[in-house]
Amino acid sequence: MTQSGSQHPRGSIGLGSPSDPAATALAVTLLGTGAAERVPFPACFCPTCLEARRDVRFRRRYAKAIVSAGETRLLIDCGQDLRPAELPPLDGVLLTHFHFDHVLGLHRIRGVAGGAARIPFFHPPAEALWGTRGLVPVMNAADRLLPREAQPFRPLHIGELQITALPLQHGAAPCFGYFIESRDRRLAYLTDTRGLPMRTRDFLMERRIDVALLDGTFAPGLGRGDRHNDLDAALETSTQIAPTLSVLTHISHRNWPYAALQTYAGARAGACAIGLDGMRIEIERDQISAVHPVEGRSHWVRPRGPRAPAERLSIA
Ligand SMILES: [Zn+2]
Ligand SMILES: [Zn+2]
Ligand SMILES: [Zn+2]
Repeated sequence: MTQSGSQHPRGSIGLGSPSDPAATALAVTLLGTGAAERVPFPACFCPTCLEARRDVRFRRRYAKAIVSAGETRLLIDCGQDLRPAELPPLDGVLLTHFHFDHVLGLHRIRGVAGGAARIPFFHPPAEALWGTRGLVPVMNAADRLLPREAQPFRPLHIGELQITALPLQHGAAPCFGYFIESRDRRLAYLTDTRGLPMRTRDFLMERRIDVALLDGTFAPGLGRGDRHNDLDAALETSTQIAPTLSVLTHISHRNWPYAALQTYAGARAGACAIGLDGMRIEIERDQISAVHPVEGRSHWVRPRGPRAPAERLSIA
């Protein structure tokens, strides 16, 4: 573990120190890549759950991620399997929506919020469920969090990050994706959703996106409703918004085992990775690097034009 010159010791997930060139990259670490049932689901013997029991690399906790740039650290979503020991000091929390698999670990943030007295907790409109008036005190996090409703399409700033909340299509639940920028590096976190509302899609199509994390809940043909993508819907979104690298997350046990997912996505999208818990992606000046629990280390060239196609460099 490294120790930074700031007031916070670094966390245990290798986010780097200020002297480390990687610390200036816009980075995302996937703490969880599962849907509401996680993988394996208890007493389920589908091929996806069997795979996860055989090999821990294929287990999926509730979808959540840490985004960092320089000294700034954000947590996106906090399902109840959040582990305080894996969190760095936080400068803010972004909540996609008030479903249990995204919010019921809120109390576990206590004690790991950064040096400020309270850190911002941005969320979508809160009239659904308890909202933040009830939820934050009930989750015993009121002394650490400063709840604020994010306004769609209006940029907000936390440390070195600029963040824009983007409405998603998730049944009746108000749900936000987040477009996160730092020094010309851009990341879109887009779950839970089925496709994209037109205005969100147009916003993203007008911008160069380095990495898009996409809802990949179901196998093709499953879950045809308006709450989650199946694989085909996720890949269609990837084609529409054309990020340099797409990464699927929020993957249910009602989706295929890892190798089948990778084969299917790889045949249809130029640069599409299947997210696994622990995957870390860094967007650097000229390239995107990823460390993946199964695929190892990969690199992609960052296109120079505003929306030029990606070129895969290598897989080590
Ligand atoms: Zn979910
Ligand atoms: Zn299963
Ligand atoms: Zn949901």
